[in-house]
Amino acid sequence: MANPNAGIETDFAIIGAGSAGCVLANRLSASGAKVLLLEAGPPDRHPMIHIPAGVKSLLYDARVNWNYASEPEAGTAGRAIHWPRGRVLGGSHSINGMLYVRGNPADYDGWAQTGCRGWSYQDVLPLFKQSERYEQGGDDIRGGDGPMPVEHYRTILPLTHAFVSAAQQAGFPLTPDYNGATQEGVGYSQMTRRGRWRASTARTFLTEARTRPNLRVETGAMVTRLTVEGGRCTGLVFRQGGRDIQVAVSRETVLSGGAVNSPQILQLSGIGPADHLQTLGIEVVRNLSGVGANLSDHYVTRVAHRVRDAVSINELSRGWRLMREVARFFARGDGALTFGVTSAMVFCRSREGLASPDLQLLFTPASYDPDKPLVLERQPGMATVICPTRPASRGTVMAESPDPMVRAKIRPNYLSDRDDLRVMRAGIDHARRIFASPALAKFSASELFPGPETTDDDALAQFARERGTTLYHPVGTCKMGVDETAVVDPELRVRGIEGLRVADASIMPFLTTGNTNAPTIMIAEKAAKMMLA
Ligand SMILES: Cc1cc2nc3c(=O)[nH]c(=O)nc-3n(C[C@H](O)[C@H](O)[C@H](O)COP(=O)(O)OP(=O)(O)OC[C@H]3O[C@@H](n4cnc5c(N)ncnc54)[C@H](O)[C@@H]3O)c2cc1C
Repeated sequence: MANPNAGIETDFAIIGAGSAGCVLANRLSASGAKVLLLEAGPPDRHPMIHIPAGVKSLLYDARVNWNYASEPEAGTAGRAIHWPRGRVLGGSHSINGMLYVRGNPADYDGWAQTGCRGWSYQDVLPLFKQSERYEQGGDDIRGGDGPMPVEHYRTILPLTHAFVSAAQQAGFPLTPDYNGATQEGVGYSQMTRRGRWRASTARTFLTEARTRPNLRVETGAMVTRLTVEGGRCTGLVFRQGGRDIQVAVSRETVLSGGAVNSPQILQLSGIGPADHLQTLGIEVVRNLSGVGANLSDHYVTRVAHRVRDAVSINELSRGWRLMREVARFFARGDGALTFGVTSAMVFCRSREGLASPDLQLLFTPASYDPDKPLVLERQPGMATVICPTRPASRGTVMAESPDPMVRAKIRPNYLSDRDDLRVMRAGIDHARRIFASPALAKFSASELFPGPETTDDDALAQFARERGTTLYHPVGTCKMGVDETAVVDPELRVRGIEGLRVADASIMPFLTTGNTNAPTIMIAEKAAKMMLA
């Protein structure tokens, strides 16, 4: 390895320009301090990043994606699950499905209950508000003038309206704004989109900040380790164009590398479970058993139907209809190319007596070929993804080598807690009731998956193991908390190391009731506030 050049001096260094890192770059540089933002991937010039429907083409694209995979496990019937993560300015927000879902107030009150003072819903609500620019304007709950546009679908297919009606017929009330006063019920999706284009944190927060001379952004800059002296993080080393460059940080370093990379960088820097680090020959700087533990992810299955008497996205993505949608996108800025991954969703409970929803059902007027990932079927189809939102199963992300270029091993332990299967089954039952309700039943020719014959617990559990996949929401590997298993304290400071924080999805003590991007942006807003205080 080349000798680190005595290179750069900065007040703040941010590792990773993803959902969180771009927010931090904006807020920290607004203070006038010198800020360095380091991103392993390239600038976000790939055209498919910016067209919402382009998401499918990015899911395996190694130019902008780490393309991780989980280890084969019993819970996935021995399958490795593909784990896309953004490796580009904007991080996973440049390749994600763009759904904007804050979660349930009970999620944050739950974080506070575990001892994380300052993270209750009332505490974090102003942070959600300050980041967003909701197209219907601000009020007590929504923000109207932040950097991040949040918009509704511009075109809604009749199948989506039918789903929303059917869900109400099945007993789920309409919620006009699941990010507003009431999450529970059925509602239309909201997206981080500006007009026809994706609005990532790179294209919003970072673009705004890049006019400031005190912010320096380096792409193709892979951080390989932190430098820790006398219990304080004094900087880091990054590799760019084959050179190792040393950064001296006078105030603080913040890790925003995401739920896979943040724990790996800590472990490679000697901060993690001592026994594991010793097996890799890494000198232990600080024994923290929680680094890489507590991995939690949304593992999902789907109920899919063949459609009759209606048009689904399957047909819109081919032939003359596709040509028409492309023309429509450029001429009017609407149509199928502005779609994200889900047009409507239900938040509901797996059983009576729960304090808040533990299931999210995500409807798409499209269906995928079961044997070809992300290839839409030729015939019309529709599907509802079943997402148990607060799974009990926990896994790990562990470095396998002291070499930063060797990928960490991801072991999610999906479905290892039997209650996750119970919740999954309840979600499948709810979805089947919705599909059987008159508004949607008239468009259904047949159930494709799990298939009408798959009804008992064992068969549905096997279906979940054989066909389930990730909704791409790993969290928890640098858990925030106040006990021995926590990696960061409620101010996001790495326990026992000065001058170092983690601010990204990895700090969530447990998953939120919904998709994880909006909560991650909120975490970064709060981190910046605490760092500048
Ligand atoms: C395919 C997909 C679809 C999704 N759909 C949705 C959705 O519709 N709605 C939603 O709310 N959530 C969605 N998510 C989840 C959401 O995008 C993530 O939870 C969120 O982006 C996590 O943000 P983060 O800042 O923790 O990490 P990331 O956004 O992944 O950012 C981490 C950044 O750090 C960089 N990095 C890592 N290691 C290093 C290093 N050593 N040196 C320098 N840089 C480094 C990475 O390249 C990356 O840019 C989706 C995710 C994926 C992958």
